[in-house]
Amino acid sequence: MTDDCIFCSIVSGTAPASVVHETDRVIAFMDIAPVTPGHMLVIPKAHSADLVDVDPADAAEMMTAAQRMDAALRSSTVPTEGVNLFYADGEAAGQEVFHAHLHVFPRFAGDGFGLTVRTSAPPPRAEPDRLAGELTASW
Ligand code: 5GP
Ligand code: ZN
Repeated sequence: MTDDCIFCSIVSGTAPASVVHETDRVIAFMDIAPVTPGHMLVIPKAHSADLVDVDPADAAEMMTAAQRMDAALRSSTVPTEGVNLFYADGEAAGQEVFHAHLHVFPRFAGDGFGLTVRTSAPPPRAEPDRLAGELTASW
């Protein structure tokens, strides 16, 4: 619990939120500025800014909740042809609220959401082999 964290205030009930689902470890609620109608966030109740600091049991429960949120969207009247999960870990990745959270939002043709991706030719096999080796060493 951090006093100046809006998501901690939602967890403690001192800030309002439209709650969808809650367990001992996580809480899911509607995003205040939805990318598409039905946009939800699922957060661990314990405060961590960075994903690496989230208790693995909380991270697992966030994913379990996201699976249920996806299913709930698909069986609701909310326009849902597909669902995106999005996680911003760090400012450079687009994180604006520094309490861990996973976005779950419905997608449909013409919804206006898009990511700009710069594509490149596949590098020679030696490059992904080198990166895999380095990352395995950092595991
Ligand atoms: P980020 O860019 O950090 O991944 O996303 C933060 C998200 O939190 C944004 O989608 C933003 O609309 C949402 N958000 C920020 N403040 C509040 C709030 O007070 N209540 C709710 N429900 N969502 C919030
Ligand atoms: Zn917090």
